Amino acid sequence: MIKTSVDKRRVCVIGAGTAGLCALKNSLEAGLDAVAYERGTEIGGTWIFSEEMPKNEYDEVHSSMYEGLRTNLPKEVMGYPDYSYPDDIAESFITSNQVLEFLRSYAEHFKLKPHIKLQHEVIRVRPRLDDWEVYVWDHSTDTCDPVYYDFVYVCNGHYTEPDLPEVEGLDLFEGKKMHSHLYRKADKFKDARVLIIGAGPSGMDITNHVRVAAKQVFLSHHLSTTPNTAFMGNVTQKPDVQRFTKDGAVFTDGSTESFDHVMFCTGYKYTFPCLSTDVGVQVIDNFVQPLWKHCVNINHPTMAFVGLPFNVIPTHIFDMQVRFTLKFFTGQRKFPSREQMIADLEQEIGERWGCGVRNQKKAHQMGERQFVYYNELASIAGIENIKPVIHKLMKDCGKKYIFELDTYRSNKYTIVDDENFLKNGEAIV
Ligand code: FAD
Repeated sequence: MIKTSVDKRRVCVIGAGTAGLCALKNSLEAGLDAVAYERGTEIGGTWIFSEEMPKNEYDEVHSSMYEGLRTNLPKEVMGYPDYSYPDDIAESFITSNQVLEFLRSYAEHFKLKPHIKLQHEVIRVRPRLDDWEVYVWDHSTDTCDPVYYDFVYVCNGHYTEPDLPEVEGLDLFEGKKMHSHLYRKADKFKDARVLIIGAGPSGMDITNHVRVAAKQVFLSHHLSTTPNTAFMGNVTQKPDVQRFTKDGAVFTDGSTESFDHVMFCTGYKYTFPCLSTDVGVQVIDNFVQPLWKHCVNINHPTMAFVGLPFNVIPTHIFDMQVRFTLKFFTGQRKFPSREQMIADLEQEIGERWGCGVRNQKKAHQMGERQFVYYNELASIAGIENIKPVIHKLMKDCGKKYIFELDTYRSNKYTIVDDENFLKNGEAIV
């Protein structure tokens, strides 16, 4: 395709969840000609709850959302920097449907709909000499055509491909086995004995849902600090499973239990099935590389991945990564050389490994590090940083799902200004 100087640079966004909508909106605002392809029939990704578990053409279950979920972060940090949740929602910790409504209103407010193609699945992305060839399968007409783009935002989400650990004897276990990806409702566990593996946000929350219907729940984990399950009368904590047996498991402390179901709340794999190998990105144990600043494809810097870091404030990190990369895509900033980007990546990973985090699965983990990361993105690209109040609020509400699961969702936050917030009506310094 011959480009003339009057051509608008074209952006392909893969996915119309929280990240894809943000990439689309900011690309359009930057004056680019952007399209978001969404394989589903509606926008919102993760936040679409469906009891029936609709399957896409590849027989994959779409979303991991379950009945009765309330957010683990308050809505005060879940809005975008330039678009907040409405004040008339009284509670801070809201339902999945309220998040979905919010995303729809974001798309409406920024007039994104004409730029979103639903039921359009990106099935192959391949770099050419100076642009991208993107094959898009239109499910409604069952046709597949190539389209050409200058930039690609990969926003396909990473909560659909279960990460299942290999545990001795799992094949022997005759009870029911599932991953949290397929969990929908607690009533399936009525009067059952259930083993839940993993005490991350999903493991803790699902334990709290399932225990209401179940007779007995065992929560197996290897957290160094004991989560609070004291308020859940029928939940017993266990160390890791050493091996499964016909009707239960032996744990690493030598104890044994029998149960009817085992549910793995062991996380997800990052996968990018539509990216061809010449995209130059590989994933080893959820470490996506080589990327500059956890988002720019060093081998082809006109491609960016949005939302790989975890233990973060999702909407804010998405928005910053998109605004950061747009400065380069629009020519306002020049990418460092390939060598500089690789050196930067090696330095960061070296620091992580040096701090004892040798697990590749944690290569994109942020936690408190995220605030250093935001500072870096802001200063390199000259973009607005997240507001101090978001940082402070996150400090107050983070990780409460482990230690204050019984009470923390009754907290009500109010943002006062860019620096200050109230918690249950009181100022927090
Ligand atoms: P997704 O929401 O998964 O969207 C990706 C989209 O891309 C999907 O619509 C998918 O259909 C589409 N897609 C994928 N491949 C293709 C393709 N090849 N072609 C076209 N379209 C494609 N975050 C919070 O901030 N607070 C919470 O309380 C919270 N709770 C959570 C609870 C659960 C159970 C889960 C699973 C996640 C939770 N999260 C929470 C994290 C949440 O997923 C992120 O905040 C955010 O919604 C992720 O957005 P995303 O756009 O990256 O991915």
